[in-house]
Amino acid sequence: MLSTPIAWKNCIDMISSYVTPEILDTWFRHISPESLDDDILILKMPNKFFIEWVDEHYGQILLTSVKSTFGEKVKIKYIIQEKIQNTDNNPSSHHTISSSAPNSIPEKLIPHLNFIKNNFSDKENISGLNSKYVFSNFIEGDCNQLARSSALSVADKPLNNAFNPLMIYSSVGLGKTHLLNAIGNYIKSKHEDKIVFYMQTTVFVDQFIKSIRNNNSQEFTNFYSKADVILLDDVQFLREKHKTQEILFYIFNQLHQNGKQIVLSSDRAPNELVGLQDRLISRFKWGLTVNLMVPDLETRIAILKSKVTDGLEIDDSIIEYIANRVDSNIRELEGVMITAIANTSLEHNLDINSIQKIINNISSNEVEVDRISYVVAEYFQISIEDILGKSRQKDIALARQIAMYLAKKYTRCSLKKIGTLIGGRDHSTVIHAINNISELIKTEMNIKKMVENINKGIYARIK
Ligand code: ADP
Ligand code: MG
Repeated sequence: MLSTPIAWKNCIDMISSYVTPEILDTWFRHISPESLDDDILILKMPNKFFIEWVDEHYGQILLTSVKSTFGEKVKIKYIIQEKIQNTDNNPSSHHTISSSAPNSIPEKLIPHLNFIKNNFSDKENISGLNSKYVFSNFIEGDCNQLARSSALSVADKPLNNAFNPLMIYSSVGLGKTHLLNAIGNYIKSKHEDKIVFYMQTTVFVDQFIKSIRNNNSQEFTNFYSKADVILLDDVQFLREKHKTQEILFYIFNQLHQNGKQIVLSSDRAPNELVGLQDRLISRFKWGLTVNLMVPDLETRIAILKSKVTDGLEIDDSIIEYIANRVDSNIRELEGVMITAIANTSLEHNLDINSIQKIINNISSNEVEVDRISYVVAEYFQISIEDILGKSRQKDIALARQIAMYLAKKYTRCSLKKIGTLIGGRDHSTVIHAINNISELIKTEMNIKKMVENINKGIYARIK
């Protein structure tokens, strides 16, 4: 067996082949192996956010790499790094991640132990619920008020509720999975004996296919017909899965007749679910269909603020900067914030420049104008604040005009929006910049070259 530090180094080497250097630096460089006893590898990380983020996003990579470098039997446990004092032998900050409290298998499911054994890797938590997603950390706003209150109503009265099924739809990253889990966790906290299943539709489909292969699809049907509550996430993945649709139709009817609750989520409205049988779509519309919308600025700020706890301090101006830039997907919003929090807790200086770097790495499409400003600033070796600021210094003014020119060329933003994003100028300033740079490109060879080079930098970033 290798000694821990060497094995850990090998493990990091292995991880580096799975993730980008930025991810390796932000997350994995700050994990340190504490000890290895009884096949339990204890890993120390800076704080609770760090642990949750790493576990959720890179848990599988970490585990695979640990197993192949430390040994197949090794399991991982995370702890929080002690700040300074607290060197007594009371490791009060032990923080272990488990998806849900250990749960004995409900009596009604005892006849199905075989099915459980063959289909659930985590027998402690066959409900599949993620305990992290609850109502209390779901921030309310105009965008989600109806969805949240209907979810609460269903959670509060999961038997014979009029909202059956409850169908929640939205584009990605707006809280569907969070709400479905919140419903399940709420019900389990009130009625431990209720049989609740949360499932990704893809898992449901896979289990069903497997059951056909093993000649026990009847058992699959019987098993799920025993549920009190089924939370089926992302039903758009039933598309073209005709056999699974049939069986779901059957299970749906069984449950519905008995007043048992069904909650569904989808990335589009029921009517737009192509590839699904009409009779299934019509069932989906029986109860209540609600839409999660993109949160407004105020709600985005509230969501970001809710992520800052544990005595960490993040300046309001930083929070507002992020909330203004990342505006269509809460997962990305959260990702930027959590990375920022990780940096703060490592006592890196958190300024607009470093935040923009994080946004560039995480966000997919909402921040083109900022990306452009960033690339231009990098090219001129000035700071992003210079571009966004008021300085009339010659090269800064030129850089700013090029940024405006390229923003017009590459984004669909209006001149007014470009002006707002680049230093709060009005649209006539933007027009002037665009005309000026277009002219210079025609007449000045070095400006033409310069813009071409910056173009390349932007292309490299806009994937
Ligand atoms: P979806 O399933 O719609 O793609 P998720 O439920 O996975 O979205 O949400 C993405 C992330 O955003 C999750 O981490 C979730 O906790 C968070 N989130 C979404 N909506 C809210 C909200 N209203 N308040 C707090 N966090 C939220
Ligand atoms: Mg989801």
